[in-house]
Amino acid sequence: MLKGLVNKIIPFSLVDGPGNRTAIFFQGCNFNCLYCHNPETIKKCRQCGACVLICRFDAISIVGGSVIWDEEKCKDCGECIKSCPNDCGPKAKEMSVDEILKEITKVKSFISGITVSGGECTLQKEFLVDLFEEVRKLGLTIFVDTNGSTDFSKNKELVDLTDMVMLDIKSFDNDEHKKLTERDNDMVLKNARYLASINKLYEVRTVVVPNVLNNFNNVNEISKLIASLDNEIRYKLIKYRPIGVRTEKIEIVQPDNEMIEELKGVATRNGCKNVIVV
Ligand code: SF4
Ligand code: SF4
Repeated sequence: MLKGLVNKIIPFSLVDGPGNRTAIFFQGCNFNCLYCHNPETIKKCRQCGACVLICRFDAISIVGGSVIWDEEKCKDCGECIKSCPNDCGPKAKEMSVDEILKEITKVKSFISGITVSGGECTLQKEFLVDLFEEVRKLGLTIFVDTNGSTDFSKNKELVDLTDMVMLDIKSFDNDEHKKLTERDNDMVLKNARYLASINKLYEVRTVVVPNVLNNFNNVNEISKLIASLDNEIRYKLIKYRPIGVRTEKIEIVQPDNEMIEELKGVATRNGCKNVIVV
């Protein structure tokens, strides 16, 4: 039976899609964004063991050659992640569909659905299909939060089981996208068009980052694309905040409110009817 590599599960989230949702964050990502707020979800643990000695609370051990993290003992001090030479941390664990369902079932009466996120959750798409089939039986909705690098048009089973997708379009300009993420954006834009054509694009998100992106050009082009697809699709502009980021990779400059409001105006004038700023 397939297992998923899960970084964490948040039983109640109000920021990962509509309503109250259980958010499941998968480990591993094929982008390496300069501003990643959860860089410890990008890589997979190499089992080097360096973090075992770092933990003052005895929450990390090596059992049978594998690094094991003990949730009960962990005080969430963050030292293991800070010191990991692989930028990951020891907290991701392999979980079966049944194990995840058990967590969902505990809170089922209080949530409207689940959201899978990451890392990049679609890198574990076969596991997602198994999970979604069971979640459907619980009558819950399923949202996918993605960087758009997996071709949704070629993953019919996954798409059929998914209610809605929240898609990052980090940059419309391919060179800029590559500089920011180390990957091209052609698949991201293809997915935006495909998901909108089947009414499964719930939201597009762009992080506004001064000194790194040409934000006005970026928001201008992305909002034109959204308006041409379906002007009711929500466009979320996210203010870059230097929380959890790798400060050696990116200068800490936050956009001010004036800049964000101007960008919101650009998107609205381009025809997007549902622009929000967070
Ligand atoms: S976050 Fe938890 S596991 Fe990591 S060093 Fe701190 S107490 Fe130990
Ligand atoms: S979490 Fe990092 S430091 Fe700990 S064993 Fe894995 S790769 Fe090594």
